[in-house]
Amino acid sequence: MQIYRLDALWDNYIFLLHDPESQTAAVVDPAELEPVMDKLRVLGARLTAIFNTHHHGDHVGANQALIEQYPDLVVYGGEGDRGRIPGQQVYLSDGDMVSFGGRAAQVFFVPGHTRAHIAYYFPPMGAEPWGELFCGDTLFAGGCGRLFEGTPAQMVDSLGKLRALPDQTRVWCAHEYTLSNLKFARTVDGDNPILIERLAEVETARRHHQATVPATLGLEKQTNPFLRWDQPALQATAHSAEPVQTFATIRAMKDRF
Ligand code: ZN
Ligand code: FE
Repeated sequence: MQIYRLDALWDNYIFLLHDPESQTAAVVDPAELEPVMDKLRVLGARLTAIFNTHHHGDHVGANQALIEQYPDLVVYGGEGDRGRIPGQQVYLSDGDMVSFGGRAAQVFFVPGHTRAHIAYYFPPMGAEPWGELFCGDTLFAGGCGRLFEGTPAQMVDSLGKLRALPDQTRVWCAHEYTLSNLKFARTVDGDNPILIERLAEVETARRHHQATVPATLGLEKQTNPFLRWDQPALQATAHSAEPVQTFATIRAMKDRF
C-alpha cells in the first residue's frame, strides 16, 4: 500500500492509499475533488473507498462528487456521525476493523474534537516496522484538535488510546499546523530540548515549503504538550498534578494563543 499526501484547501491534507496490485485507491478525508481526481488519473487507479474521520466540511467536502464519479465506492465513518457524513454507508465503532488493499485497519473511537470522531490505524506489515495512523483532527503534529463537541476528559481518553500505539507509528494528521503548534508548545514546555530542536527543524522545513506530515508518534510523545499531561513540566505550567486538569488548562491556553 502506497500512501500519497495531497494538498487541499488552505492547510488540509488528503491521504490517498493506493494498492498497485489491484489498481484501486481509497482516500482519507477528501476535502476537495480536484487533487483526488488528479492523483487517480496519474496512477490510473479506481477509487473504491472513502475513510472519513469526522463530519467537518474540510474532511467530507468531496464525498458527494466522488460518489458521482465512482458510484460503487464505499463511504466509511463513525457510528455517531450517522446523518452528518454525505453518502456514509458503513457506521464504525471502537475496535471495528476495515480493510483496504490487503491490509486491515483498526478503528479507534476518539471523541473530543467532535463527539463522533474516529481514527484508523494500520498496524505494521511486511518489511516496514511502522504502522500508519490516520487521526483527522484529533492528534496533530505538535498539537491536538479544538474541543468543539467534547470534554477535556474525553480528549485525554482519546489521545491516550493513540499515545499507546508504538513509537514508530507514522501520524498522518489532516492539517499542516505543526509550526504554530510547536511555537505554542515552547511557551508551556520551553525547557524540553527535544521540543526546541524539533521547532528549529520545522521552522527550516516550512521556510522551504516542505510538509511536516507524517510525524512520528515517538517524537509526538516527547514534544507534543497534549500528549504530556503526566509530565512534571506541563503540570507545573498548568499548576495541577491531575492529568485531565493539566490537559484542560494547556488546551485553554492554546485556544487563546
Ligand atoms: Zn475538524
Ligand atoms: Fe479539519
